[in-house]
Amino acid sequence: MKRVLLLLPTTGYRNADFLAAAKTLGVEIVAAANYCHRLAPLWGFAPMMALHFDQPRQAAESVLRQIDRPPDAVLAVDDAGVELAALLCERFGLPGNPARAVRRLRDKLEFRRLLRQRRFLCPEFRHLPSEAEPRTLVAELRFPVVVKARRLSASRGVIRADNADELVRAVNWARAIQSRADRDAHALGLVIEEFIPGREVALEGTLEHGALTALALFDKPDPLDGPYFEETLYVTPSRLAGELQRRIRDEVARVCRDAGLGNGPVHAEVRLNERGVWILEVAARSIGGLCGRVLKHVLGTSLEELILRDALQMPLPEAGQGEATGVMMIPIPEYGILEGVHGLEQALAVAGISNVQITASPGQLIAAPPEGASYLGFIFAQGASSDEVESSLRQAHQRLEFDIQAALPVNEARS
Ligand code: ADP
Ligand code: CA
Repeated sequence: MKRVLLLLPTTGYRNADFLAAAKTLGVEIVAAANYCHRLAPLWGFAPMMALHFDQPRQAAESVLRQIDRPPDAVLAVDDAGVELAALLCERFGLPGNPARAVRRLRDKLEFRRLLRQRRFLCPEFRHLPSEAEPRTLVAELRFPVVVKARRLSASRGVIRADNADELVRAVNWARAIQSRADRDAHALGLVIEEFIPGREVALEGTLEHGALTALALFDKPDPLDGPYFEETLYVTPSRLAGELQRRIRDEVARVCRDAGLGNGPVHAEVRLNERGVWILEVAARSIGGLCGRVLKHVLGTSLEELILRDALQMPLPEAGQGEATGVMMIPIPEYGILEGVHGLEQALAVAGISNVQITASPGQLIAAPPEGASYLGFIFAQGASSDEVESSLRQAHQRLEFDIQAALPVNEARS
């Protein structure tokens, strides 16, 4: 029986989907969780390893001490574990990605340096060290800019600023968010870069020995102009012209190659305007949240199963039907405590809607980006065309109602 070491985040949307895929394939899972060993019984496992994913070197040593024999693959369920997974693949001699390449991609400053060095289209950027006064940069910046925490994801700590006052506020806020999230936040500083106008798409793919296969290109039809960048709609197939889609795929493939990625899932975000194709981000992981579930019809299997098969060099199933499909990450309308959800049945009754999954629980404190990194839930749709899918998702969303008891964010930087 094949054995996979799976790196599970403490709270993750997709742990269950990966475990289910492993079961379908008859693959044995050795589980390692971020920090917490008490979760094992909840997930129906024997006790497992508890590791600090954000200290990959120590965590890798700890795995090597505890595991009896090398697994057949090491996989991270989400972004938090990708660097550790890469390191462990190196140590076990498994096909994966060089840890150095993965680390560089996770650092927004290092990634911009890579893009510039390799002559990709790249927003003008500056590093703002922790103690530095943002006003000293104002003379060099061309507004609008985007202020970013260096190593967070899901648009946490990403804030647009249109002038010097907004810049100071955005910097203070992003610093506060980063210092709560990263234990070495102090050493990191922030990235401040030119705002790139245009529409945005996301490419989901997999690499094998450095060759990229695009699994899907998603349109993100809601404007993402800021000041905060909460994700909402993802719809595939993209409605962009075939030629442009090819250019995007080629550009992402070129970045993967120059970044030194070799194997496994890739998720890239790209902006398009009259100046060209701008790679905003490339990550050595698959799409986040429950969004991967929309690909089941396109792939002919779940994305998690595909990733497992890929990692274990098991044969891949035939691709599925080319129906249009999409997901809405339900945005969080205000900061507060979720008290209840109404209109589920009405939303499900919209033609084309295949599922509505509310992932936030009543009583939970919910926060949109740049503070939070979670969603209220996910709406899934299928249809004859991407336009239809988009319209179903919007209609279903309109029928949902959320009771939220507004709360005051703790962060003084906001006021
Ligand atoms: P994260 O890792 O948190 O997803 P990203 O760098 O991908 O951070 O930024 C999140 C979102 O913010 C992007 O999807 C995009 O919509 C917006 N964004 C980021 N950088 C820029 C930029 N330079 N110009 C315009 N929009 C940007
Ligand atoms: Ca992103």
